[in-house]
Amino acid sequence: MNTDVFTQLEVWFVVGSQHLYGPEALKQVSDDARQVAVALDESSQIPLSVRFRPIVTTPEEINQVCIEANSAENCVGLVAWMHTFSPARMWIAGLTQLRKPLLQLHTQFNRDIPWDTIDMDYMNLHQTAHGGREFGFIGARLRMPRKVVVGHWQDPEVLERIDVWARAACGWHDLHGAKFARFGDNMREVAVTEGNKVSAEVEFGFAVNGYGVGDLVEHVNAATDKQITNLIAEYNDTYVIAEELSPDGVMYSSLRDAAAIEIGMRSFLTDGGFKGFTTTFENLHGLKQLPGLPVQRLMAEGYGFGAEGDWKTAALLRAMKVMDAGLSGGTSFMEDYTYHFDPNGMKVLGSHMLEICPSIANAKPSMQIHPLGIGGKADPVRLVFDAPAGPGLNASLIDLGDRFRLLVNTVETVAPDAPLPRLPVARALWIPEPDLKVAAAAWILAGGAHHTGFSQSLTVEHLQDFSEMAKVEFVLIDENTTLFDLKKELRWNDLYYHMTGLSGW
Ligand code: MN
Repeated sequence: MNTDVFTQLEVWFVVGSQHLYGPEALKQVSDDARQVAVALDESSQIPLSVRFRPIVTTPEEINQVCIEANSAENCVGLVAWMHTFSPARMWIAGLTQLRKPLLQLHTQFNRDIPWDTIDMDYMNLHQTAHGGREFGFIGARLRMPRKVVVGHWQDPEVLERIDVWARAACGWHDLHGAKFARFGDNMREVAVTEGNKVSAEVEFGFAVNGYGVGDLVEHVNAATDKQITNLIAEYNDTYVIAEELSPDGVMYSSLRDAAAIEIGMRSFLTDGGFKGFTTTFENLHGLKQLPGLPVQRLMAEGYGFGAEGDWKTAALLRAMKVMDAGLSGGTSFMEDYTYHFDPNGMKVLGSHMLEICPSIANAKPSMQIHPLGIGGKADPVRLVFDAPAGPGLNASLIDLGDRFRLLVNTVETVAPDAPLPRLPVARALWIPEPDLKVAAAAWILAGGAHHTGFSQSLTVEHLQDFSEMAKVEFVLIDENTTLFDLKKELRWNDLYYHMTGLSGW
């Protein structure tokens, strides 16, 4: 996804202090704070603006900045730093009503202790070591979800932690007010793709609404010959096109149909201001093909997508695409499809009927057309490719009835053992961590969906930060997972969420 999504967004840098050491010390705090804020703002490691806010030294000022942050449309979250010491009761009124994500930057203006010159004035000004603990206490006392990042503000590793959090905050911010369109309903009788749309809107701030396929077909039929021809020219520049889809090919008219569907879908989504959508092969009235290529290309532009009516995955994928804007690697709708149970190397082949995002293609995708034995429509056009080797993850959002759960499983994507010449869909092959047997059992025990957001750009930390902002349960299956511990975690989480009711704002 394009980094334009960050252009209007900003993080506020809020520094707490007090009047105990006089105006001179406060001026120094303010100058130092501004310098840190400017450095964060200018850092190429953080893709959005970091805005310096005047230092806060009273409950009234703290309250005011939190209220302003809540109502500032472009503010995705607060980075707070206690340069000196800020008695934390001053923060209670502000923090209890803060509705934006919070990161505590536990840094210090000077990296090193000036051994020769350090005196009590220096000590009074550089109190983060204990000032940050005072602030930490009130966060713990208020049971506030927040991220704590420790280290010098010029340390690239610290900037990376802030970047991850800021990206997660953008994903979280983007979902609020987001609209998702469902063409048709769910695949009949399927459980995991169902869920409570009202709860989702309360918890995540996005709205899901259904539309008749006829509403979409109107837009598809409005696509002009010129638009279609222009779009096919773009295909020619972007993909390796199969012979039969060339202008002289026997299936050229099918390519024009696919292009018309893409134009119609984009027009529908743009007109309605949608950030994602779902389709279902059980409801395609008036469409000549199941949308394959169009869905793939819209996903690559940053639209969230879920097949078979899976609106939770569409929303999650959209958030993931915002988080990964500009990063290397891509993020796609995915499904655990079939296994390789060879004891010498067990793997999962991930794919879908058609709809895999070309942001994870390891080379120029090949545009092909093949029959599809489902949906009862004409052969759909699709892009075929492999995902590159390297680390990745699968993420799934499920509705447990009383709460949502976000599951993540880390994977190592690998090259196929051999070419797959007869497989007419894009795919990724991976080894889940800690291994296929434990990972699949853990995923099943935790109720994870077969649909996921598969990412080779995001890390566990992005999704964990996101889950904390959403106050949603987070279950990680990684190299350290054992089924024994996971079962306990699931039981304890059930109890925890039942007792606290801590799910959503
Ligand atoms: Mn599916």
